[in-house]
Amino acid sequence: MSFALTPKTPAGERLYENAMALIPAFRERAAAADAGNTMPADNYSDMQANGVAAAFVPEALGGFGLQSVQDWITCIVTLARGDASTAIAINMHLGVSRGMALAYHNAQAKGSAADRLAVPLRAIADGRMLICATATEPGTDNLHPLTEATPADDGWCINGRKIFVTLSPLATHLGMNLRMRDDDGDHLVTTLLPMDTPGLQPQDDWDALGMRGSGSQSVVFDNVRVGAGGIRKLGPWGRWSVGMLMNRALANLPLVGAFLGTAEAAYELVADKLPGQQRMGRPLAGFAGVQHLVGEMDIELAKCRAILSAAGAATDRFLAQHETQPPTLEAAHRLMKDYQTAKWVVNRGAIDIVSKAMDLMGGSGYTNSHALARLYRDVRAGPFMQPFAPTEARQYVGQVVLGRAPEE
Ligand SMILES: Cc1cc2nc3c(=O)[nH]c(=O)nc-3n(C[C@H](O)[C@H](O)[C@H](O)COP(=O)(O)OP(=O)(O)OC[C@H]3O[C@@H](n4cnc5c(N)ncnc54)[C@H](O)[C@@H]3O)c2cc1C
Repeated sequence: MSFALTPKTPAGERLYENAMALIPAFRERAAAADAGNTMPADNYSDMQANGVAAAFVPEALGGFGLQSVQDWITCIVTLARGDASTAIAINMHLGVSRGMALAYHNAQAKGSAADRLAVPLRAIADGRMLICATATEPGTDNLHPLTEATPADDGWCINGRKIFVTLSPLATHLGMNLRMRDDDGDHLVTTLLPMDTPGLQPQDDWDALGMRGSGSQSVVFDNVRVGAGGIRKLGPWGRWSVGMLMNRALANLPLVGAFLGTAEAAYELVADKLPGQQRMGRPLAGFAGVQHLVGEMDIELAKCRAILSAAGAATDRFLAQHETQPPTLEAAHRLMKDYQTAKWVVNRGAIDIVSKAMDLMGGSGYTNSHALARLYRDVRAGPFMQPFAPTEARQYVGQVVLGRAPEE
């Protein structure tokens, strides 16, 4: 396989090696999790034990001190070669913990109290904190959450319902976007809640075509209480802002890696099997039709890897450029556009590669006991991911290119 994503920084190198080491165990556990519709809990204790779950925690607090988004993507691709459900689930945790590490660095740079922010980061490094992240609700989109924090005597009271809350059965905490209205206006805010907060009710209703080991159940919030300082403003409700664009693009770009990793796993299955396959005593690898299909898979894989790696590198450059000066709204839309472009190419390419692997594997790959059947179902989840579905993405890209980025 050519054009493979490789780590670019020392922290990324360490992360990649540790992610690689987990592939065999993840593969072994994936079939049972898929069949039982359960989360493979050992995958998470492994990632907590070997530091993958603490990738973004600063080294001084016990983590790897990862900064590069490109290396984050490479880690997710690698984990997905073992188990796609686990890769998408840990991506949610890594997205939130990256934000926490950034807040810690910013506080340190300003000389303000970073000690308070160090507490959860140490908890992540010690394996005491695992965070799921949710923005999705039925009947609305990311910009218009209907789950709302309303003022209560001692802070806020949250009511609403989130769906697709990946990782929530094992998570200790839940990060989410919601609505809050005050005298200054109508806001999109974020909060972080312990999973055992009274009124936070996991629904145990995850039963899907694929990603069955991801624990993506619904969660109901019934008069959940949060302290006065427990919510943070992200931008105006219902309108794109720099904060919201950065939040969505950064959390979701590495997720695309899970679908590339799924395609890589399918390719590997075929590459392992083909040399031993024969028809009437002749090796299948000698047939022109087989050679063409393998060639097409390899070319598609190269394309997907190249665009995702380039999107990661461009995001790292963007973040470095805007370290001290926040981007303009237009620049943040361009970042989102580039993410959408990479997502479009990789999601389609990954589905195509896994489908071609099925053609090459033949009927055995179609049986439920075969790993390829699971990959075929898992890879289909890619296009759903936020914030733009396939029916919206092309229009959005065109709007940004033409200087008509949507306001809401
Ligand atoms: C396995 C899995 C795990 C997930 N994990 C998480 C998670 O951890 N956290 C999280 O927040 N979310 C998660 N999601 C949710 C995901 O990111 C999407 O937000 C969610 O799938 C979108 O909802 P929907 O697919 O029901 O589409 P809807 O938003 O309900 O849309 C339904 C259909 O209408 C179309 N549509 C909607 N609006 C428009 C429009 N304006 N123009 C054109 N077409 C439109 C869409 O293309 C779609 O086909 C997960 C999803 C999956 C499948």
